[in-house]
Amino acid sequence: MEQSDTCIFCNIISGTISADILFDGGDTLFFKDIHPQAPVHIVGIPKQHITSLDGMVGDDHLLMGKLLHDATHVARDAGIMKSGYRVITNIGLHAGQEIPHLHIHILGGEPLGPLRCKA
Ligand code: AMP
Ligand code: ZN
Repeated sequence: MEQSDTCIFCNIISGTISADILFDGGDTLFFKDIHPQAPVHIVGIPKQHITSLDGMVGDDHLLMGKLLHDATHVARDAGIMKSGYRVITNIGLHAGQEIPHLHIHILGGEPLGPLRCKA
């Protein structure tokens, strides 16, 4: 699995940086966001270092399907399946992507408001 020494999320995968890990899907990992934006805020990543949804090549898109599938299990375990939740992936500058390792945000635990939010 391709990883990057300088990437925060690759360092969480290797255990170099600690995180509150909720689920290990083999090729995916889910952990609590360090700066939660909702009562439930979980980050889900593929273990392979891919910069964003836009950086996928070859069969990488299959991993996105797996990531979303695992996200439904994680949401169920977090108790937000019935109340509903939002899954977001930020891509690049205008989306405010801070960490260049493909990730999804799972947000829930209260009504989330409109989709588009300006800081
Ligand atoms: P994005 O803005 O889409 O790149 O989201 C990156 C997310 O990663 C932010 O919500 C951060 O709070 C979160 N984050 C950054 N470092 C850590 C970390 N060490 N453990 C958990 N979440 C983190
Ligand atoms: Zn990475």
